[in-house]
Amino acid sequence: MPIEVVSFDMEGTLITPRFSELIWEYDIPRLYAERHSLTLEEARRRVFEEYMEIGDERPEWYDIEYWFRRLDLPGDWRELLEMRRDAIEPYPEVKGVLERLSEDYRLIVTSNTIREFLEVQLQGLEGFFTHIFSAPSDFGEVKKTAGFYRRICGIVSVKPSSMAHVGDHWRFDYLAPRSIGIEAYYLDRVDEREGEHVVHDLEEFERRIRLLDG
Ligand SMILES: [Mg+2]
Repeated sequence: MPIEVVSFDMEGTLITPRFSELIWEYDIPRLYAERHSLTLEEARRRVFEEYMEIGDERPEWYDIEYWFRRLDLPGDWRELLEMRRDAIEPYPEVKGVLERLSEDYRLIVTSNTIREFLEVQLQGLEGFFTHIFSAPSDFGEVKKTAGFYRRICGIVSVKPSSMAHVGDHWRFDYLAPRSIGIEAYYLDRVDEREGEHVVHDLEEFERRIRLLDG
């Protein structure tokens, strides 16, 4: 079956996690420290406790507006995203791979990042993609499940076997899409795993896609 659509995870796949880490682990604790007159260390401890109380299985975990309200933070969360624009770092091979693959395939993003983050993070890359999907914003799902991938195949009108996907989460980027017949690859940028469907950067993924297509 020829590949028609190539799908990419976002964080850890197209761009480094740095932007999100700075916002969630540094900026939000810093604002909390200002608001409640605490040391940064104490604020970080309390904010992380609050994060844990919600946990990553609930949609609120991903919702920055919710956290601004819950933690009673000053200012507008949109300003924070703007302020951190410079921390958005695509991996070095990304642009070249997208340029080449977009000549032969439809490219999409399938992410579990909320849309407000995606829009900022994809700056300069959005033109390569025909669709950009956010599991929490578009479907109210916190994880990329088999059902999520099935809905996406429906929306972009492609059979699972004609779609390839790559991402850095074993369960949500590899097992879930493979389970419905998508040609999924696990991206291991730190060279820990080897295997038939393991790639170590996106150029290797590109070569695998080209091989599938003969
Ligand atoms: Mg990822």
